Amino acid sequence: MSFAATILTLYPEMFPGPLGISLAGRALAEGKWSCEPIQIRDFATDKHRSVDDTPAGGGAGMVMRADVLASAVDDAVARHPEVPVLAMTPRGKPLTQARVRALASGPGVTILCGRFEGMDERLFEARPIEEVSIGDYVLSGGEMGAFVLLDACIRLLPGVMGAPSSGDEESFESGLLEYPQYTRPQLWEGRTIPEVLRSGDHAKVEAWRKSRSEADTRSRRPDLWERHEGARVQSPSGARLKKKD
Ligand code: SAM
Repeated sequence: MSFAATILTLYPEMFPGPLGISLAGRALAEGKWSCEPIQIRDFATDKHRSVDDTPAGGGAGMVMRADVLASAVDDAVARHPEVPVLAMTPRGKPLTQARVRALASGPGVTILCGRFEGMDERLFEARPIEEVSIGDYVLSGGEMGAFVLLDACIRLLPGVMGAPSSGDEESFESGLLEYPQYTRPQLWEGRTIPEVLRSGDHAKVEAWRKSRSEADTRSRRPDLWERHEGARVQSPSGARLKKKD
């Protein structure tokens, strides 16, 4: 069964956009996933087809209306009742590779894209919607976030990546950053590829990669390293073991 992506947006013409080329584009053409952008404005009820109004309490910009968004979400849920609904918002839970993997193994995803100052909070109280952020910065709309989320999911769908193991060792899969990669030429601007990678000794290569993966995670992403180490020193019963230095 194909992975069904439904995108609720004020700019349906943006899709599939960059997802129509390369790996994702091929997978789309092969029917491994489907892309159905839906115009939120079609669910407006007034003659001006308004989707937003001024913020309660005052302030700059406009806020997307809960009633219009709820109608759009309900319509998507009626089409794909088994698919989770996610809303793009900087107030959401940061997207992780683990969440991407879980979504990719499911039937699809419905993504609600915000614009303006965001969406009326009552929508999230009234509907089971998972609020997702793609990082601690502010985009002008949720569509870019939808591209990020969909791209991350699509490459994990069965048969999309060349080798079935391509994704296994990548950054975040084991809670660590991936080791650095090199390719020919062997000498470039006076710099060589680490000797061990040219040794042909698979055990040594594996040990080098593991140690670089750990060292780089430790220095570049102390937050990831701390979480990884925390999980490692946790006993099966959940009690914390004494951490070795
Ligand atoms: N006023 C909002 C705030 O400060 O939280 C930002 C609104 S932003 C200009 C408009 C829309 O872009 C949001 O409703 C959301 O859909 C999307 N967006 C912006 N940054 C995002 C992020 N980091 N992750 C996911 N979606 C984001």
